[in-house]
Amino acid sequence: MIVLNLCCEREHLFEGWFASAEAFESQRAQGLVSCPVCASLAITRRPTAPYVISGASAADRPAASVPSGAGGAATPDPDALAVAMSVLRRMGRASEDVGERFAEEARRIHYGESESRNIRGKASGDDVESLLDEGILVLPLPQDEGDLH
Ligand SMILES: [Zn+2]
Repeated sequence: MIVLNLCCEREHLFEGWFASAEAFESQRAQGLVSCPVCASLAITRRPTAPYVISGASAADRPAASVPSGAGGAATPDPDALAVAMSVLRRMGRASEDVGERFAEEARRIHYGESESRNIRGKASGDDVESLLDEGILVLPLPQDEGDLH
């Protein structure tokens, strides 16, 4: 017997016990595998979790087939956040520093009066707000330690 992590089209996660992966595929093809929560037949296999949640008695207990609720998917992934931050930092370095003229320059670019490019600089909260009101995308850039003076 093997245990497969399964997921329906509505992201309900559950486990299924099958004689083999082939047995799962054939049962799914015949519509015999359904979600215990919503009875959906659109079931996909999830890769087996690459980590084990360690706990005193976790290893002794068989894993319960509890479908994770909608909240499970919303947990921010710290790795994904770190990647997003480093991309933002890189974008920041590739941009032209226009300092105090940031709001003015952002408008010029937006309205086609200035060459289109990425810029960074200083902007007050009011500046940022009015730029956003005008439909100009402004991102607060995380500061590197080295950028702080
Ligand atoms: Zn479901």
